[in-house]
Amino acid sequence: MSDAPKLLVSHLQAGYGDVQVLWDISLDVKAGELVCLIGSNGAGKTTFLRCVSGIVKATSGTIAIDGRDMTNAQPADLVRAGVAHVPEGRRLFSAMSVRDNLLMGAYLRDDKEAVAADLERVYTMFPILADRRRQDAGTLSGGEQQMCAIGRGLMAAPSLLLIDELSLGLAPRAVELLIERLRDINRSGVAILLVEQDVMNALELADRGYVINRGQVSMSGASSALLADPAIREAYMGL
Ligand code: ATP
Repeated sequence: MSDAPKLLVSHLQAGYGDVQVLWDISLDVKAGELVCLIGSNGAGKTTFLRCVSGIVKATSGTIAIDGRDMTNAQPADLVRAGVAHVPEGRRLFSAMSVRDNLLMGAYLRDDKEAVAADLERVYTMFPILADRRRQDAGTLSGGEQQMCAIGRGLMAAPSLLLIDELSLGLAPRAVELLIERLRDINRSGVAILLVEQDVMNALELADRGYVINRGQVSMSGASSALLADPAIREAYMGL
């Protein structure tokens, strides 16, 4: 196996039209690692994930997956390279069944038997999705929709899962369950880059974290160090 990190971003700059949002961001996620990205509203976290999954183009800097340059590659090529994105707001097809939403995650795969096995794995991980497989995704609760969105990401058989706002708007019990499942997914060898508003939860879950402030990395380090940092406790945890 290559020693290159799963994801290596160097000096990334990006934005929308004339508005630059990301300034010189460098970040890495090693194989099997769980890393979180924290920062206030509008800091650029979503834009960063959208760059990594090829939706927003970099104006300079590089993005490499497993040591291979993927800067400004097409989203489908990033999916083929093992990157799956669970977007903010879940973005399910609400008038389609839970099963069909899950299968959308496998749209680039032609290994039918492995896809069927992965679908069963998602149902085992989230039994409620198995119970609701024929129901329209739009009728699921918020927590169930997030399970479905994560399940759809897993159906791409990723080695790196990007998750934007895991817990936003969800009940604490649903968040607890999702966190447990993310630990399982990560233990199974999938690296995770997590954007999360709840900084305490994010740092307790992750190995390392990066703080993004106005489109720049303002701090990074082991989660334990960030959790203990007085500036972070004051700015993001209200402590
Ligand atoms: P939040 O936690 O509120 O989602 P964020 O850290 O994810 O915030 P982004 O959504 O990446 O931040 O937004 C960063 C900046 O980019 C904001 O100033 C936002 O207004 C701007 N922005 C985001 N999407 C677009 C777009 N499609 N067109 C123009 N500007 C955008």
